[in-house]
Amino acid sequence: MAFLIIAPDTKVTSWVKHLSLLDPGIDVRIWPDTGDADEIEFALSWHHPSGEFNKYKNLKCIASLGAGVDHILTDPNLPAGVPITRVVEHSMAQSMSEYVVLGVLNHCRQFDAYRTDQSKKKWQPRIPQLAADMRIGIMGLGQLGTDVANKLSTLGFPVSGWSQTFKNIEGVDCLAGADALDDFLSQASILICMLPLTPKTRGILNHDTFDKLPTGAYVINVARGQHLIEKDLLAALDSGRLSGACLDVFAVEPLPQTHPFWHHPKIIVTPHISSITFAKAVAPQIIENYKCAQTGKPLLNVVDPKKGY
Ligand code: NDP
Repeated sequence: MAFLIIAPDTKVTSWVKHLSLLDPGIDVRIWPDTGDADEIEFALSWHHPSGEFNKYKNLKCIASLGAGVDHILTDPNLPAGVPITRVVEHSMAQSMSEYVVLGVLNHCRQFDAYRTDQSKKKWQPRIPQLAADMRIGIMGLGQLGTDVANKLSTLGFPVSGWSQTFKNIEGVDCLAGADALDDFLSQASILICMLPLTPKTRGILNHDTFDKLPTGAYVINVARGQHLIEKDLLAALDSGRLSGACLDVFAVEPLPQTHPFWHHPKIIVTPHISSITFAKAVAPQIIENYKCAQTGKPLLNVVDPKKGY
C-alpha cells in the first residue's frame, strides 16, 4: 500500500519526515512521481489537479491536508465512494483563536492608528471601544469557531454564534439556520467568518449582509476568500457602512500585486496564515487514518460531501 502526497504548491519535506518517523516502513510518494498508480491507496491532498484521483483505482481515502475540504469537493471529477477526511487538531484552533483575538483587540484598541501616530511622533490618546459594548458575531460554530467564541467570551466580549444546527455553548448566544441570520447580523459589531466554503456559504459576505450589520461594524474573514464579494466590501468601507476589515484569505492567492486591498487604509491583509497545519502536530492522525484505511477500520474526521464540510 503506497501513500501519495499530492500538494503541488506546498513544501512537503516536513510531512515526509513526520510520517516516516511515525511509520518507518511507509512508502511515501510525492506527486507527480507516483510510480505504479495501482499501488496508491491513500492520498494526502492540498489543491490537487482536477480529475487526478480517478487515476488511482485502489484509493481508499482522500485526506485533506487542512481543516477545509472545499479544495477537494470543488473537483467535479472525484472518484465515487472514496471517503474524504479533514484535519481536526487542537493546535489549529489555538492558532486561529490567537489570530482572531489579535484582530478583535487590534480593532478595539486602535493599534493601527497608534502605529501611524508614532510614525508622525504624534501623542494622540484615543477612546478605546469597551469589550462589553462590542458584540462579536461568529459565523460557524465548528472546531475553530467554538474555540474563538469561548476565548472572546472569556475576555469579556458578548458573543453570538451562528451555525447550521443549534448549539449550546456556555456564555455564547447561539443562533441557527437561515431564518436567524438577520437577527444575528443586526447585533454584530464585529463579524467573523469561520464557515466552510460550500454552495450555501459562497459569497455570504456581501452587500446585503453588510447592510444588516450595525453601522461601522468590522469584518474579519479567516475562512475562504470566496466567502467575500470583494467589490461589496470596498463599497461598504468607502460608504462608511463598515469601519474596517481584517482579511487572511482571498479569492485569488497570492493576492495579486495590483489588488486594491493592498493599499486600502481600512483593510489589514495577511497571507493565509491564521491557522497553519503543522506536519508534526497532524501527522499522528494522518497515520492513524492510513492504518484504518489499511485494516478497514472506521476513518477519523470523515466529511459529508452532501453537506460540503
Ligand atoms: P467545522 O466543519 O468544524 O465547522 C463548520 C461550522 O460552520 C459548523 O458550525 C457548521 O454548522 C457551520 N456551517 C456550515 N454551513 C453553514 C451554513 N450554511 N449556515 C450556517 N452555518 C453553517 O469547520 P472548522 O471550524 O474546522 O473550520 C471552518 C473553516 O475554516 C474551514 O472549512 C476552512 O475553510 C477555514 N479554515 C481557514 C484556515 C486559515 O488559515 N485561514 C485554517 C483552517 C480552516 P453545524 O455545526 O450546524 O454543522
